[in-house]
Amino acid sequence: EKTINLIAAGEVVESPASVVKELIENSIDANAKSIVIEIKNGGKDYIRITDDGFGIPQSQVEKAFMRHTTSKLSTFSDFNTLRTNGFRGEALASIASVSNISITTKVASSINGTYLQISAGQVIENYSIGAKDGTTIIVEDLLFNTPARRNFLKSNQAESAKITDTIIKLGIIHQNIKFKYINNSKVLFSSYGNGSLETLFYMIYGNDFKNNLISVNENLASNISLEGILGTNSLMLPSRKSQHIYVNKRIVKSKMLSNAIEKAYKEYIPSGRYPAFALNINADPSLIDVNIHPNKLEIKFNENLNIYDKLFYIVKNELKKITM
Ligand code: ADP
Ligand code: MG
Repeated sequence: EKTINLIAAGEVVESPASVVKELIENSIDANAKSIVIEIKNGGKDYIRITDDGFGIPQSQVEKAFMRHTTSKLSTFSDFNTLRTNGFRGEALASIASVSNISITTKVASSINGTYLQISAGQVIENYSIGAKDGTTIIVEDLLFNTPARRNFLKSNQAESAKITDTIIKLGIIHQNIKFKYINNSKVLFSSYGNGSLETLFYMIYGNDFKNNLISVNENLASNISLEGILGTNSLMLPSRKSQHIYVNKRIVKSKMLSNAIEKAYKEYIPSGRYPAFALNINADPSLIDVNIHPNKLEIKFNENLNIYDKLFYIVKNELKKITM
């Protein structure tokens, strides 16, 4: 069991940023309206996530840190209707096996909350405690018990940049959630929880985008649609950092999808420049397969959908309408 946790940890805990991603996704799945993230030293030494979500009942807290316990998948057929971010029940167990982690959590229906502390997979303390509704998780000394892997992490600055990217990616697509991100005591990102994708986009990438965003809302096929924004051809950036693709609001990494979009921009892109966009594909879960890699970044579409062609065509058409 311990070995399995460590192996799984290698897949889930690639870096502090992947820990941050898993924890924020748990907060989102818990219907949080506000999520505060604080990190120190690139997340290697300290990551704290506080949410106002529905919390974990006392009797379930230790279980949540055991491998393959998930409250999100009750029957096998759920795999086909899945809409939550998590479903494998691997993240907390994996993170706990390679860090000092503590959780304070309380459900609204209970008077007291629970405090649980785990070090390298061993429960250190578990007791009742007064707490606010919601959950706070603190992860310290990531990978301290697997020094070879800890040494493999990049500089604090590089790890910190990955965390910032992850938070921005999650923050702009969950416009109804208030995010606050504090990095070494500096607030690097905060959102109001009632913004639009457009306002978040120019808050992050600059006011130049104010008149340079095209809204998209189109059907790709039945039960699958595309919504979001495209930067116009007149505002290309020097990196791909402002390209965001989601499926059912989950971050995905898909060369296929990126290629389709960039190909549509092709005739407008000067060399060394990249389009900016944030696009979410809303798909009935039966049309997609996210169960490929534990990090859930990869995704497969039902082949009959011809997503590549459809995406290319829609983006190209939108750009044609406004060609400047
Ligand atoms: P998964 O998200 O795949 O279910 P995790 O290991 O990430 O697995 O989490 C295990 C369980 O712990 C979740 O199914 C959920 O019940 C509970 N949990 C984790 N984080 C939170 C949170 N912030 N608020 C409420 N419940 C949580
Ligand atoms: Mg999870």
